Amino acid sequence: MSSDHFHDPIGAALESLRERFVADHDGEVASYIPELARVDPEPFGLALVSAGGGSYSAGDDRTRFTLQSISKPFTYALALCDHGLEAVLDRVGAEPSGEAYNAISLDEETGRPDNPMINAGAILTCSLVDGRDADTRFGRVLELLSAFAGRDLEVDESVFDSEATTGHRNRALAHLMFHAEALVGDVDDALEVYTRQCALSVDVRDVATMAATLSNAGTNPVTGDRVVAPEVAEQVMSVMATCGMYDASGEWLLRVGLPAKSGVGGGIVAVSPGRFGIATFSPRLDEQGNSVRGAAALRAMSTELGLHLLHRTHHLEEELAAGTVDDRAGALVVRLSGELEFTDAERVLRSLVSGPTPDRPVVLDLDDVRGCDEVASRVLRATATTLQRDGVEVGVVDSHDRNLLGEGFEDHVDMATACGSFDRSTPGA
Ligand code: GLN
Repeated sequence: MSSDHFHDPIGAALESLRERFVADHDGEVASYIPELARVDPEPFGLALVSAGGGSYSAGDDRTRFTLQSISKPFTYALALCDHGLEAVLDRVGAEPSGEAYNAISLDEETGRPDNPMINAGAILTCSLVDGRDADTRFGRVLELLSAFAGRDLEVDESVFDSEATTGHRNRALAHLMFHAEALVGDVDDALEVYTRQCALSVDVRDVATMAATLSNAGTNPVTGDRVVAPEVAEQVMSVMATCGMYDASGEWLLRVGLPAKSGVGGGIVAVSPGRFGIATFSPRLDEQGNSVRGAAALRAMSTELGLHLLHRTHHLEEELAAGTVDDRAGALVVRLSGELEFTDAERVLRSLVSGPTPDRPVVLDLDDVRGCDEVASRVLRATATTLQRDGVEVGVVDSHDRNLLGEGFEDHVDMATACGSFDRSTPGA
């Protein structure tokens, strides 16, 4: 879509981010992997894939680069699928190390790496992937990461060879963990799987789709495939939020507030849960190994669009205001819509129960409600019960007959019946 921004406001927004930061030439391309030292430092691409499956991109959106550390959260997802959170946590921690990605962040006694986003933790994660040998294990990694991306990914063999022959530090980390019995199984197999996943060749659109899959609770919104369970997506995003940007993770969460992961290939992936996945690519890196332009663009985007994870705006106050007194029937109609959760239900509770007791029947109109989580259902039910106890009649309108408030409030009542019954039962109301 990058070619036609006139009809694509989201692509146009990405393009304007690109234009704002493209002149920044700070940073250096990674050079410790010889093949990466040769990449063109100039490309800058951005892509966004919504949780509904729309894709938008700008700039060098087809330029290939290697995933590098962006592979880590996705292989972590596979280890979680294979063993569950408890077993995985026994072997790899979930604490931000506050250290560089290639640091020797291992527990002194157990050799357990601090978290799965640093190299040590990611190599250990690879050793947890089920499979009889490196080929089978990597085959499973490749299959899962391809499902996240919605496309069959391939290894850039020259980048793989380049890192495999020079990656002495990673080898040392793996052997230290093996020595401490933190890594069990074949050390070389774990390193092979790790180095291969780092060398997977992608463009920003692939990576944005991978993130959109996390954002969409583990289902790829483009292909419709359920890639991982919602709780696995949640666990992966949690670790990205606290550890994804290495020793810049704390400040990243503070300023940008999105679960993210960077790679020394120049990519950054970020997730806005329930909204979209976004990816940037620009090879020059800052001292922490994070893409300079990519980080700047994501930071600007998050601040300007209010995307911080902890930023909550809620629309219910307006909706409650739309809960009107119906003159015909003399009832207070509270019209609710969307996905109800704690905040929505608590506002209904506060407005109906904390103040003066309503002097007329209350109708909770749930016709436009799409869903209601367990907490919201309980709070709404308690609200209705309290009102009844105080002598207020309560009707629930739900022409979809979903019984959202549970027993006693399950009657299928349409608005006319609800209001009509109040007409009869509360004369003069
Ligand atoms: N393959 C790289 C390494 O192990 C990945 C590091 C990164 O992207 N931060 O050093």
